[in-house]
Amino acid sequence: MAKEDVVEGAGERQEEPARQASTFAELGICAELVEACDAMGWKEPTRIQSEAIPYALQGKDLIALAQTGSGKTGAFALPILQELLEKRDVQHPFFACVLSPTRELAIQIAEQFEALGSAIGLRCSVLVGGVDRMQQVLSIAKRPHIVVGTPGRLLDHLTDTKGFSLKKIKYLVLDEADKLLNVEFEKALDDILKEIPKERRTFLFSATMTKKVNKLQRACLRNPAKVEASSKYSTVDTLKQEFYFVPSDYKDCYLVHVLNESEMLESMIMIFVRTCESTMLLALMLRNLGFKAMSISGQMSQDKRLGALNRFKAKECKILVCTDVASRGLDIQGVDIVINYDIPMNSKDYVHRVGRTARAGRSGYAVSLVNQYEAQWFVLIEQLLGKKIDQRTVDKGEVMILKERISDAKRMALTKMKESGGRKNRRKVGDDEEEVEDDSHSKRSKAFKKPRRR
Ligand code: AMP
Repeated sequence: MAKEDVVEGAGERQEEPARQASTFAELGICAELVEACDAMGWKEPTRIQSEAIPYALQGKDLIALAQTGSGKTGAFALPILQELLEKRDVQHPFFACVLSPTRELAIQIAEQFEALGSAIGLRCSVLVGGVDRMQQVLSIAKRPHIVVGTPGRLLDHLTDTKGFSLKKIKYLVLDEADKLLNVEFEKALDDILKEIPKERRTFLFSATMTKKVNKLQRACLRNPAKVEASSKYSTVDTLKQEFYFVPSDYKDCYLVHVLNESEMLESMIMIFVRTCESTMLLALMLRNLGFKAMSISGQMSQDKRLGALNRFKAKECKILVCTDVASRGLDIQGVDIVINYDIPMNSKDYVHRVGRTARAGRSGYAVSLVNQYEAQWFVLIEQLLGKKIDQRTVDKGEVMILKERISDAKRMALTKMKESGGRKNRRKVGDDEEEVEDDSHSKRSKAFKKPRRR
């Protein structure tokens, strides 16, 4: 259901099924790019691609609302690449600028552009904070076709890097637009908008859309086509969602119970917690219990964040404990389970978190550990989704068997965090690479683990 006026009703569920083109060629994608899609294993367009690409190819601005993992990146990258190709404009540097709220998402977007554009020798620069500026200056000097960045670092380069200008870009894309429109990015975004030409095409993509978009729409979109491939805050049908109602003192026991479930031992699991401290504490505790867990949070250096993410993606460790820094847009192949250890206070974050699994038509499982204090937030999440989530129960005695071992593991983790200087000296503790490989951990901890249940 692509239509010009859908945003006002973006919160409502769609009545009609989408008109879905069955091939990229039918959408008007040229042969070179169809081949590139094929090489990526994209046999047919996803719904948001079917909806958005025809408008984008007609030269329209876009507001696109689509679920995480729905193929949003392809929906904006393909039309941009097609124009580069059609105009035989492959020498055009700084053709498009894509903004993302997080560094990891920016890197991922650039990877998809590069994969799709490999046949035309596409060059991308990733301009994000937390990494060496000089490398980025060198990459700008190569005059990339596409610049993908987070607002702060991109603006730094626009201000400080000699010869770098976005005055000739043809496309501006805001991915996770609702997040980019938050106050934390407002100043940088305003300043960037002053540095790019008014004569350009603008695509806003987001899994969730807020009224703030209207403000930006007035400021920089011209008669945009509004397409929607999902209801405003929904989760995909291939995602199974459940929750345990858990006494607050025993969350760790329920967590380990969930992890110990036999089919889950082979799964790739993301555990979401509220604070950076909790990521580290929980990862250390789980490692003490023999699980290969790593943590990722906004307080880690960018190198460490990427290192943890890459090891998780490579399946060297199967459990990633994270804050909401990892909840948006990250496309990690094969995440089977999302565990909400802490229930997010902001219901939208739930949608983003569980969107890390069940991506691109695959199935997935999300389980939330809800204590008595979080029940009110969970009700709000259900209201937002417009459906009840099934409750799972388990024999309390079975879970409590683990209590003593888990307390020991947590105590050891706390001691280790204290010894390493807690907040001030966090990187010593956060040095996940060595610890997760530490054999003595695994040997000791196998004793902690509950035997597999069949
Ligand atoms: P995104 O929503 O852009 O983060 O994409 C989520 C995942 O879907 C990525 O792994 C893409 O490679 C994949 N994907 C995108 N488009 C398609 C498609 N047409 N068919 C199959 N997978 C796709």
